[in-house]
Amino acid sequence: MANETGEQIILAGETELKRRARRDGESTSRATPDAALESRATRQGEPKPRARRGREPEPLPHGISPYLRELLADRGEHVRVMRDLLVRAYGYTPFRERSDPVGGLVGTILSQHTSDTNSSRAFASLRERFPTWEQVANAPVLEVEEAIRSGGLAAMKAPRIQRTLREIHARFGAYDLSVLDGMPRDEARALLLSLGHGIGPKTASCVLMFSLGVPAFCVDTHIQRVCARLGLIRPNDAAEKAQTLLEATVDPDDVHALHIDMIRHGRQVCRAQRPLCGGCPLREICLFGSH
Ligand code: SF4
Repeated sequence: MANETGEQIILAGETELKRRARRDGESTSRATPDAALESRATRQGEPKPRARRGREPEPLPHGISPYLRELLADRGEHVRVMRDLLVRAYGYTPFRERSDPVGGLVGTILSQHTSDTNSSRAFASLRERFPTWEQVANAPVLEVEEAIRSGGLAAMKAPRIQRTLREIHARFGAYDLSVLDGMPRDEARALLLSLGHGIGPKTASCVLMFSLGVPAFCVDTHIQRVCARLGLIRPNDAAEKAQTLLEATVDPDDVHALHIDMIRHGRQVCRAQRPLCGGCPLREICLFGSH
């Protein structure tokens, strides 16, 4: 994959989409979001979500196209079209390799409120200074703080990492989260959330998706913004709203790839300030940028 060109990656993504469309047949056609929510929940043996009356009517701005108007009434289809357009623009990056979820959790805590570069540097520095999780858990907090200083907010993250590691050891008798293997997504997320202060839905979902390939949608500020601008959620909705919608409407096999594409889109095109709507591949389906 490392030697593939961008064009090859995009072509592979399109081939994958066509294969999915053939495989899914009528099931991918115009399913309502509520039907998608219900069938997903039923498939996972969970209680059916409370029946909803569909989207509450909202005054739509003048000038939006009939096509977008139709999509705004069908979030499942809206998400599917977004996925197709993003794959064509940025390619398709499937989940490839499982990794240690304890390391994933520590790495995700380090990534809070900082750049990928800084958090990667802090993680490498922590592992070099303390080769085992036991050493991290039992070290003087100031030494852990020193080791992760390049990641920012070290005074907050050092005790958070130590508390989390100690909690894992107290509960499972080792610095090990293999208990998550094979666990249903929502149960696994609840377990991670229960490990302590500082682990929210975004952190828990990132660990599940990046370390274990579980289709938990990790919604960060970029993804939340893109969803709001497209009209998939309301501007003031919490990230969990987007998470629930995306997990209910995105094929589990596509969660990782769509997460990667949405992050890239939010960073490069749908920026918080001065989004580049003119050349945006999503403009036709975007409430904010289409009029
Ligand atoms: S059209 Fe503009 S606001 Fe809409 S997704 Fe594209 S960049 Fe973002």
